[in-house]
Amino acid sequence: MNKDFFEQLNAKIDSDNIKTNEQMKEHITFRVGGPADYYITPNSNEQIVSAIKLCKKYDVPFYIIGNGSNLIVRDEGFRGAIIEIGTNMSEITVEGNTVTAQAGAILAKVAVSAMENSLTGMEFAHGIPGTLGGAVTMNAGAYGGEMKDILVSVQVINDDGEIITVAANDLKLGYRYSVVPKEHYVVLSATMQLKEGDKEAIKETMAELSAKRREKQPLEYPSAGSTFKRPEGYFAGKLIEDAGLKGYAVGGAMVSKKHSGFVINYDGATAEDILTLIDNVREKVYEQFGVELETEVKVL
Ligand SMILES: Cc1cc2nc3c(=O)[nH]c(=O)nc-3n(C[C@H](O)[C@H](O)[C@H](O)COP(=O)(O)OP(=O)(O)OC[C@H]3O[C@@H](n4cnc5c(N)ncnc54)[C@H](O)[C@@H]3O)c2cc1C
Repeated sequence: MNKDFFEQLNAKIDSDNIKTNEQMKEHITFRVGGPADYYITPNSNEQIVSAIKLCKKYDVPFYIIGNGSNLIVRDEGFRGAIIEIGTNMSEITVEGNTVTAQAGAILAKVAVSAMENSLTGMEFAHGIPGTLGGAVTMNAGAYGGEMKDILVSVQVINDDGEIITVAANDLKLGYRYSVVPKEHYVVLSATMQLKEGDKEAIKETMAELSAKRREKQPLEYPSAGSTFKRPEGYFAGKLIEDAGLKGYAVGGAMVSKKHSGFVINYDGATAEDILTLIDNVREKVYEQFGVELETEVKVL
């Protein structure tokens, strides 16, 4: 424990919002991962800025997470500070056709607020179990929609610790890509432009998409969604299935029998099980089809 860092952190952030030696498996949807030295849940932009400044001052490595739905944390955990931008930063406001929300707002809640205001365009995001900040960072998308289609601008902390507004265009949003990690931006809030629609129709579309997810995806097991990105011209799940890897398991990790694009934690997997399985799948798919699978999931 870095005593000076911890003391100064406590001077800036309510002690209820700082934990030490916190098990990361409690905070990521894959339910794996050892302890983080510090786990901070700030409740204002100023607190996030302060936490980052202190991490930099005391050379404490830090990593931002939202809902942890696209992450694998290793069994050794994280030597440094995890800063969660989640429920403490989740206000949503709707004005006309514009929705602005703090980065910690859960996408489903943002999509429901849009629906309640008869705004269409966010239905695709309703079933993605991440925060708005995570969705901007990943340019999350599903069923023909993606954040890129609706995002106008974001408020971020830049590498100099300043709060600035960045236009969506400047985030270079692409398939599961944005410049957020490269620029070391921390997303604080995002503004989306939607269109007027019919509330009942929006509700119905969201229900249909949820039903599709339940039918096709192994939502009953912990996972991080699609493990691999879609390689150009192929579908990762189909390649994995054709390689005979459906149901392939390492320890408690398994290629889902319901959807081969999902690696699931089906029985007390360790991060090591999952990472070994991912490596083996990549190797076998490459051997058989010459296609290199790239992970969509981020490893911490
Ligand atoms: C069952 C299931 C289904 C899924 N379906 C889909 C789907 O259909 N489409 C899809 O795109 N994804 C899907 N995902 C993956 C995941 O939900 C998305 O990538 C989501 O956008 C991640 O958001 P998060 O808040 O959980 O981010 P995290 O997993 O916490 O973080 C992901 C990345 O974003 C960064 N990050 C998070 N918040 C911020 C912030 N405020 N500022 C800067 N960086 C930040 C993190 O550092 C990390 O690099 C699914 C996952 C699961 C478990």
